[in-house]
Amino acid sequence: MATSKTTNTYNRQNWEDAEFPILCQTCLGDNPYIRMTKERYGKECKICMRPFTVFRWCPGARMRFKKTEVCQTCSRLKNVCQTCLLDLEYGLPIQVRDAALKIKDDLPRSDVNKEYYVQNIDNEIGKLDATTPAGAVGKSAAASDLLMKLARTSPYYKRNRPHICSFWVKGECKRGEECPYRHEKPTDPDDPLADQNIKDRYYGVNDPVADKLMRRAAAMPKLEPPEDKSITTLYIGNLGDVLTEKQLRDHFYQYGEIRSITMVPRQQCAFIQYTQRSAAEAAAERTFNKLILGGRRLTIKWGRSQGRQAISAAETIKEMLEPVPGLPGALPPPPENMGNNFFNLQATPGIMMIPPPPVAPQFMFTPPMAAAAPIFPPGTTPIHYPSQDPSRMGATQGIGKPWPEED
Ligand SMILES: [Zn+2]
Ligand SMILES: [Zn+2]
Ligand SMILES: [Zn+2]
Repeated sequence: MATSKTTNTYNRQNWEDAEFPILCQTCLGDNPYIRMTKERYGKECKICMRPFTVFRWCPGARMRFKKTEVCQTCSRLKNVCQTCLLDLEYGLPIQVRDAALKIKDDLPRSDVNKEYYVQNIDNEIGKLDATTPAGAVGKSAAASDLLMKLARTSPYYKRNRPHICSFWVKGECKRGEECPYRHEKPTDPDDPLADQNIKDRYYGVNDPVADKLMRRAAAMPKLEPPEDKSITTLYIGNLGDVLTEKQLRDHFYQYGEIRSITMVPRQQCAFIQYTQRSAAEAAAERTFNKLILGGRRLTIKWGRSQGRQAISAAETIKEMLEPVPGLPGALPPPPENMGNNFFNLQATPGIMMIPPPPVAPQFMFTPPMAAAAPIFPPGTTPIHYPSQDPSRMGATQGIGKPWPEED
């Protein structure tokens, strides 16, 4: 590296000579054997105007070539990808991230001040290890609701596709299959990044993508608690194969006492039942649309009322069962004062003799959890069978867990 300060090498020791670019997963692409070309001092950084090392690579089959646009100092100053300028942690535009974290950008915009500032920052960054973001972002550790709601948790490789062919849009492209650009109507809402002003995006102003994301956040649906106050169960979806009951418990216990967690591995979901409705409501409010565990954004819904489920199951039974001549009909409803009170059993000893309603094998078509739901003829009060009580001693799994409603 040059150290003598002749006119054309003046300041050269501040030029960047990087070994590897700072990139987000999306820009890097999904090919683990990616090949990059490296051009030392190949271009001026689009923000600080200093020459920096430019990398070029193709992020995957049928994707467009990409290159680094800003230097590593500028990238680390804002903790963003050197190519797309999206935040490295949340995959969000700087404008959105800084609004959410309430970071105020104090970077000088005039060329002289900027150069001085960047040199100072460069020295500061040199003392940090290479993965630490510098500047205001590095100091702001608090995650916000907004970021959690909007964060992208997986790479979005579609963003690397070739740009749309402007000739084709006008009906004038003669290259046909050979054309390296995309022959599609420009309706893709996720690709306006290409037309954006890189400086505006870096300074977090006039960013159309950011505006769109903020509007999306404002319009995000809320999760209304069900009117049936007896429902204390939440459905947790999109668990994948990786999340364990312990991980769920470790997160969800903070909202209140958990009665049970039922994992349904085949559906990659779980049901968490709280002992208190208020705890379930707190959990729903604090996790809906923003909980990310193990890199997965979890789906949170309210469980369905057990009463409703029992009725629908009973209706199904009624439809399928013809009364059999010579056999007694439906069992008489239990005495009014019975209810679900376990301790009243003493007063009516005969009740223990009533067998549970028959469930023929052909009714096992219901999903495994629903099959265990108590089934009662319509118009009768559920009878309490202590042996079927999910909260009895030694029980490990609740029965009759409700399914959430489909969207
Ligand atoms: Zn720069
Ligand atoms: Zn990127
Ligand atoms: Zn074309």
